[in-house]
Amino acid sequence: MKSVIERMQEENTAENIELFRQYMLLPYEAKKNHAEVRAREFVNDCAREGLNYHVSVGGLDSITLLLFLRSIGIDAPAISVSGLEDISIQRVHKQLGVERLQPAKREDGRPWGKAQIIQEFGFPVLSKEIASKIELLQNPSEKNATVRHAIITGETGEYGGFRTGTRMQLAQKWLELFGGYENENEGVNYKIPPFKVSSKCCYYLKEKPADDWAKAHNSVPFLGLMASEGGRRQKSLMMHGCNYWGKTTIRSCPFAIFDRQDLLRLALELDVPVPEIYGEIVRDPDGTLRTTKAQRTGCSMCGFGIHLEKRPHRFDRLRESNPKEWEYWMLHCCKDADGTEYGWGRVLDYIGVEWRQEMLDGF
Ligand code: SF4
Repeated sequence: MKSVIERMQEENTAENIELFRQYMLLPYEAKKNHAEVRAREFVNDCAREGLNYHVSVGGLDSITLLLFLRSIGIDAPAISVSGLEDISIQRVHKQLGVERLQPAKREDGRPWGKAQIIQEFGFPVLSKEIASKIELLQNPSEKNATVRHAIITGETGEYGGFRTGTRMQLAQKWLELFGGYENENEGVNYKIPPFKVSSKCCYYLKEKPADDWAKAHNSVPFLGLMASEGGRRQKSLMMHGCNYWGKTTIRSCPFAIFDRQDLLRLALELDVPVPEIYGEIVRDPDGTLRTTKAQRTGCSMCGFGIHLEKRPHRFDRLRESNPKEWEYWMLHCCKDADGTEYGWGRVLDYIGVEWRQEMLDGF
């Protein structure tokens, strides 16, 4: 039985989400106006709280946000771990004066590299949420026993109020492939993968450098996130709205209610320098805007969401543009204890994602 507070929270959440949906239906000009109002509100709230603000920049969405803020007179410093982005995006960052951050440092003082992180902690694959759960299964401790039980069974145990069927449980498909670490504890018969899985890559390469910078500058971020893009942030954007002042998270996402069309229209209006990897922004005969090359970008050689992509997928595209780099990541970036080299090929084979050239008709 749910407590009164739990019910109130749920109702409030439902109301917030409904309101957010209404905002998403507004016409373009109204959404743009809304973005401006929320951005100014955030700036004022920061002043009241004695905080600075900055823009966290990555691809086209956040580049557009930076220029949008500048266009309305909000001149926030911009930061990015630019080295993770495509070279054409790095060029635009430079042109716009974005401060380039380095990945987090290892104990020996040198910055973490992606291959080292993968070797040490595991591959970022499927999604951040799923990878974190598999990582817990791979690193069992007394402390995480309850969570591991919930990941396998969906039961939260005493500390979680004995709930069953919770969202903590891994989908059956992934349990079959990754749940074997708990076979003995849970009396199940799942498989154990021949590689490690982890979400630490994002933490060391992206999140920690940005968080450290923010702390050092007493600053909170503007982010270019849009709920329409889906993913794990969609729900939190819809629940918390554009500006969020939480206990551990403070952020502004003025484009939260935008869709891709709004974003591209604004980018055209602001004459945003479009990095070459996206090609150009063009209008189809039916009026739809699109970029002629990549529609979205992200780190190269990242496995988050790869199981949802059609071929030619991101790894195929890398093969096309840089076969040497592709070969390194697919076959050689990691070593087994006996020295055998392997890479993403092993991971993709295991989760059933095709990657070999001969399977790619006409590519
Ligand atoms: S998006 Fe992927 S590759 Fe990029 S930092 Fe995160 S886990 Fe690593």
